[in-house]
Amino acid sequence: MEYKSILVIGAGAVGSAFLESSIGLFKKVGIFDGDIVTKSNMITQPFYNECDISSPISKTAFAISKLNSLESGTEYKGYERYFTEKDFETMKEYDLIADFTDNIKSRLIINEGCVKEGKAAVFASLNEKEGFLYFYNKDSACFNCLFRNSVGKVKEGCESVVSAPEKEFVSFLKENILRFASNKVEGGKILLFNLANNRLLSSMLKKDMECEVCVKHVTKKVEDGFLQVCSSGIKFSYGKSIDLKKLSSILPGSKLYSEFLIFNQNNKSVLISLDGDFLFTGYKKEEARKLITSFIP
Ligand SMILES: [Zn+2]
Repeated sequence: MEYKSILVIGAGAVGSAFLESSIGLFKKVGIFDGDIVTKSNMITQPFYNECDISSPISKTAFAISKLNSLESGTEYKGYERYFTEKDFETMKEYDLIADFTDNIKSRLIINEGCVKEGKAAVFASLNEKEGFLYFYNKDSACFNCLFRNSVGKVKEGCESVVSAPEKEFVSFLKENILRFASNKVEGGKILLFNLANNRLLSSMLKKDMECEVCVKHVTKKVEDGFLQVCSSGIKFSYGKSIDLKKLSSILPGSKLYSEFLIFNQNNKSVLISLDGDFLFTGYKKEEARKLITSFIP
């Protein structure tokens, strides 16, 4: 294969299925995810079903230990946080970037990094009965070229993954990513796979000469630490480490672990990691925002 290392961003339903199906195929695999394994993950994401959730563990840490126990010829490297602009440097270590995140804002940040670092990338998502892949390489149209022409039409994937990805989808994903890694798929290609009737649609995207990212090179500032609603709750990345001890003293009843703090209140909970990642469950977006501003000056 042309590309020997891959950076997998997002180890949720789609990302974890890809990791498991591609064991042993790359020399080096990086895994980015700031999420914690929850009970619901164990149902919709079979990769995590033997995880012991009695003490919080990040998806990244669990994935690294599981993959290392299954295979020894690959170097696995974990990043227990959400991908932000500060991580563009990390992309330099890998030949291919795979975006398995579940929201447009993350995809646009990843796209910007790939354009800046000149990295080939594949953007993958799964919506109900449709799988989507977009391939980018240095000279092709970027993900923003596609996005800016389809605002309102591109669906976010996160709400829709309620069961494990189907076998047909996982093999569609794996086969086409490996073809791209072997230089057999051109950049700018869109693949849509309909799982209901097994039909594959393919199309080529041309560079949009008005694209802010790959043509005009204007940095579109995506709000730092944005609140992102997802199937597991509401996420927020502070982007800096947090003094959990200090925070636990102002949150009565919170439980402090070595790398996490958990705060429960009327059936709602907040999980805060040392690295500054927040996961709210049971909260409305506005409530989460209010709570964050009360935590962080
Ligand atoms: Zn572009």
